[in-house]
Amino acid sequence: MASKSPMNASRFRLEFWGVRGSYPTPDKTTLGYGGHTSCVEASVGGHHLIFDAGTGIIPLGKKLANGRGGPKHLNLFLSHTHHDHVFGFYFFEPLFRPGNRVCVFGPGSPEKPLHDTLRAAMEPRFFPVKLRDLDANSKYYSLQGGERVELRDSGDLPRVDRAGAEKPENGVTILVKRSKAHPNGVLLYRINYRGKSVVYATDVEQKDGGHRDIIQFIRGADVLIHDAQYLNREYHSATSPRKGWGHTTVELAAEVARKSSVKRLILFHHDPTHDDATITAMEKRAQRIFPGAAAAYEGMKLDLFRSP
Ligand SMILES: [Zn+2]
Ligand SMILES: [Zn+2]
Repeated sequence: MASKSPMNASRFRLEFWGVRGSYPTPDKTTLGYGGHTSCVEASVGGHHLIFDAGTGIIPLGKKLANGRGGPKHLNLFLSHTHHDHVFGFYFFEPLFRPGNRVCVFGPGSPEKPLHDTLRAAMEPRFFPVKLRDLDANSKYYSLQGGERVELRDSGDLPRVDRAGAEKPENGVTILVKRSKAHPNGVLLYRINYRGKSVVYATDVEQKDGGHRDIIQFIRGADVLIHDAQYLNREYHSATSPRKGWGHTTVELAAEVARKSSVKRLILFHHDPTHDDATITAMEKRAQRIFPGAAAAYEGMKLDLFRSP
């Protein structure tokens, strides 16, 4: 949104556009939950946020490009740059529209800026369009964890500070945490607005009892979106154990949610080999441990200012 309108200034809504992990599954046995990879849209306090650019961002981009209103200000937060989280980036229509402004946040350092990582993935050997040919005015923010991103009104660019001495939270702020509990690391995001909070924690492998630092980061969130790719028996399978692959079992995700006193747990990053019946069974398993659990599906909407 180019400017903040009073109508949506008090909103805190989520919509899920891609909930699958690893690769898309356009298979009819998986379409109850959806086949697109990770993408969650958040409309918060008049700002437009998107978490991850899996293939789910492609239909979202079409909706935004064809929607009403003028140029858009979008804020895209990447958890990491594994293919299943960025493949839709190159097909995200708002990037090809002049006048739009897209601020892209993701893992990077002064030596390895985010912009360079995305540019490398768009080399002519891999993709026909170059990053510099995108028409939108894009800004790239390399994050290492421990930052606090503040979204500002009146078209001002977001402000990135080190998190620390907590300031009064009036506007929309996003806290960033880096975890090593995924190959090459991953960023977790906590969005805070008017006393409500959502944590986006995909592609994270919890250990028994949960990682202490992650539990601290997610504690008390109203909504926790958490990796729940495997069943216990798959993770511990004798023939093909999944330990070290960077994902959590549904049982452990539910235990971590209970321990962290979050209000709701959304099971996310469904395994591409799981059909609808398996995911429904996993949801029931999670609910026995943590009643506030629900499996994410494409088209799922949550409103933080309304009771479920
Ligand atoms: Zn993934
Ligand atoms: Zn990954």
